[in-house]
Amino acid sequence: MKIKVLGCHGSEGQKYKATSFLINDSIVIDAGTIVSALPIKDLKKIKHIFITHAHLDHIKDLAFLVDNLFGKIKKPIKIYGKKKTINAIQKHLFNDVIWPDFSRLPSRSNPTMRFIPIKKIVKINGISIEPIAVNHTVESVGYIIKDGMATLAITGDTGPTRGFWRRLKREHHLKAIFAEVSFPSRKRLLAQDSLHYTPTTLARDLPTLENNPRICIYHLKPPYVSDIIREIHKISPKWYVLKLGKTIKI
Ligand SMILES: [Zn+2]
Ligand SMILES: [Zn+2]
Repeated sequence: MKIKVLGCHGSEGQKYKATSFLINDSIVIDAGTIVSALPIKDLKKIKHIFITHAHLDHIKDLAFLVDNLFGKIKKPIKIYGKKKTINAIQKHLFNDVIWPDFSRLPSRSNPTMRFIPIKKIVKINGISIEPIAVNHTVESVGYIIKDGMATLAITGDTGPTRGFWRRLKREHHLKAIFAEVSFPSRKRLLAQDSLHYTPTTLARDLPTLENNPRICIYHLKPPYVSDIIREIHKISPKWYVLKLGKTIKI
């Protein structure tokens, strides 16, 4: 499995981009940063986008992606997410006020995008993608992504949560975990209220897992990036902080 980091922060800034991961060129997890990270020929290869939750830093580039591809693709891009998430995106973003409803454009029968509510595993060309509920201020999921050889787990935005980590104990080919850490530990009250991890709370929750999967940290909030990195070097030097533009193979 090949994963390109299009964006790995919990917001936007001069050197920071909201979260998106491109898997094997055609599947994207979260739509924080797509159009500014890829040339148009690569945008055209994107067929499936899985959204973790409806917050803006995870959906905003849906708007610009479909705008860029309007009239240029033969089949609609499929946008997957929990029903509440899909409803929120339709109601608050593609509502013909904030942005046109591209799920009806250029035509209802062959639009630019199509929304697909998901409950369980979705299988696409030998890759399975399973949503797992996590603990955030709006309905939110992480994803477990498998290609038969390797498994990748992405937490999505979450504060301390049990089910996700318990579920990972059943995975025998887990090679990497992309785990969110949004704030340094000194901002624990802010993390607690907004339901995000700090290095301390993540270290507390991370179970011991077979095969020692690589722990990759993302969704750092821009004002705290250097703080968080310094803290991680101290308390968990084996954790790797994801970098923009990097491709990871597992
Ligand atoms: Zn976020
Ligand atoms: Zn969020």
